[in-house]
Amino acid sequence: MERRAEVVIIGGGSTGSSILYHLAKEGTKDALLIERGQQIAAGQTSRSTALVRTHYSHPTVAKMALISYRYFKNFENEIPGYWCGFVETGLLVGADSKTERALKENVAMFKEIGIVSNFVDKDEAKKIEPRLDPSSFSAIAHEPQMGYAEPSTTASSFTQAAQFLGADVLLNTRVMSIEKNPRGGYSILTTNGEIIASKVIIATGVWSNPLFEKLGIKVRIKPVRHPVAIYRRPPEYQGNRPVIFDFPRSAYYKPEGQYLFFAGSLEMELDNYEIDPDSYNENVTFDEIMKFTQSVSEVLPVMGSGGKYERSYTGVYDITPDQQPIIDEFSDEGFEGLYCLVGLSGHGFKLCPEFGRIMSQLVMKGKFSDYDVSIFRRKRFEEGKLLKSRYELSTIG
Ligand SMILES: Cc1cc2nc3c(=O)[nH]c(=O)nc-3n(C[C@H](O)[C@H](O)[C@H](O)COP(=O)(O)OP(=O)(O)OC[C@H]3O[C@@H](n4cnc5c(N)ncnc54)[C@H](O)[C@@H]3O)c2cc1C
Repeated sequence: MERRAEVVIIGGGSTGSSILYHLAKEGTKDALLIERGQQIAAGQTSRSTALVRTHYSHPTVAKMALISYRYFKNFENEIPGYWCGFVETGLLVGADSKTERALKENVAMFKEIGIVSNFVDKDEAKKIEPRLDPSSFSAIAHEPQMGYAEPSTTASSFTQAAQFLGADVLLNTRVMSIEKNPRGGYSILTTNGEIIASKVIIATGVWSNPLFEKLGIKVRIKPVRHPVAIYRRPPEYQGNRPVIFDFPRSAYYKPEGQYLFFAGSLEMELDNYEIDPDSYNENVTFDEIMKFTQSVSEVLPVMGSGGKYERSYTGVYDITPDQQPIIDEFSDEGFEGLYCLVGLSGHGFKLCPEFGRIMSQLVMKGKFSDYDVSIFRRKRFEEGKLLKSRYELSTIG
């Protein structure tokens, strides 16, 4: 029997889950999320280091990050009975002569937006993180509004709360193609049969290209591998500690929980490193681990002397030409009611609460009025209106 839904969301990561919840909360009774995995957050969301920062160099994205940060911090009041695992840590951003000017401009911009960010000298930085060796930093900013959340739990909380409000979730179901239905709306052809929907939202992250290609839509995201190394911290460096952005070494360090420590890169080899998200080298190489270990030891010598390498893994970023998301409807191609929210470029978890709010209003009201989100249209790439970052380190945004 043919199944129907008012709105179908394809992809059950942090993006699709938040959209489902916000649609249900705003009164869409008949929203359906389709996920090919056997559980929610089967894709990149479960691999995310899930930093929730407000440090961005584009004012709109910084504002979205601030709204989302407040949502994470207040999650249990926003969605009573559900949890996102948010832990507030604060952030130290260390710049060198190449990045100092951009950092200064950002801190000035944050003051206008309401993001708390203050320059600290090396002694003050050491009071915030006594184990820091700040000698390679020419400027340091401290941002207390920073932390991390539990990404899979966040996505599950959104979908479970949405189901409580009447939305539905279909797992173990892959969408093969989307076609216009002659009677209106769309036919979504899945491994579990056909589903008819008035509106469709594509939130399939690094797996989006095949769906766009079948529709003949010219949107292409570039899947790029992202390695992460995990260490155990020595006793003198345990507990809740600030996250560190190390611009001279293009790295980020995330102390997690009591004992763990994650290191990842802030730069990407964008030009030559496209991979197939279903078949790529998921191992982290010895050279990559050595590079992380070297950087960590220089900035946090306590990790060099007492930290222990534990394991590593890779995930995949869905990159756009300016490393910012695409939020759009495909009406120019004749696909009214078909939307996408993809191309999050390695920093889309922290924005998921605001993504849900934006997309639910676009779908239900036909517009989002709080601020201009047309800057995220896909045509910006053809028009040469790419969103600019002050940093050459691309994942910062
Ligand atoms: C290692 C790593 C570290 C990161 N660290 C951070 C960070 O610190 N902070 C931050 O903000 N962001 C971070 N990110 C980025 C962030 O995790 C992602 O931007 C975000 O989770 C993407 O969510 P999504 O829902 O768009 O995609 P995904 O979580 O990948 O979800 C897409 C879903 O679509 C499903 N799907 C795909 N194709 C189909 C189909 N045809 N039919 C049905 N279902 C389909 C997939 O199974 C998947 O579950 C990181 C990413 C990685 C990989």
